[in-house]
Amino acid sequence: MIKVCPGCASTWAGGSHCEDCGTLLRDPYAKDAAETLPKGIWKYIRLQYGARRGMLVRVMAFLMVPVVFGLLAREAVLLAAPWNAIGIAGAALAGFLTWALLYWMAGKAVRIWVLRKGQLNKRRMAKALLKRAIGTK
Ligand SMILES: [Zn+2]
Repeated sequence: MIKVCPGCASTWAGGSHCEDCGTLLRDPYAKDAAETLPKGIWKYIRLQYGARRGMLVRVMAFLMVPVVFGLLAREAVLLAAPWNAIGIAGAALAGFLTWALLYWMAGKAVRIWVLRKGQLNKRRMAKALLKRAIGTK
C-alpha cells in the first residue's frame, strides 16, 4: 500500500503522516485522489513503481547465477578429464550470461512499464481536451 504526501510529494509504504513534513498522507487510489494530490505526482509514482519492479528483477537475476552455475557444474564434474574443467568454466559463463541477459531485460522492462502508462495518460489527456473543445464538460 503506497501513500503519498500532498505537501512534499514523498511516497511512503504506509502510516498516516509524512515523516518529512508532517502532512496527512493521502491514498493515491482513493476516489478524491485526483483532486487532492498534486498533478505531477502520478509520473513520480509510476517511476517509483517501475524502478522498484526493475530492481526486483535484477535481484532475481543475481540469485539465478548460483542456480544456473550449480546445475551445470554438477553435470560437468561427471565428465572425463579435460572436459570437466571446460564444463565448469562454461557453467560459470552461462551463469554470468543469465545474469547479464536478465539485467538487460530489466532495464528494457522498466522503460516499457513507465512508458506504456505514460502513453495511456496521454490518451486520457487528449480525450479530456476533446471533451472540453466540444463543450460537454
Ligand atoms: Zn511531506
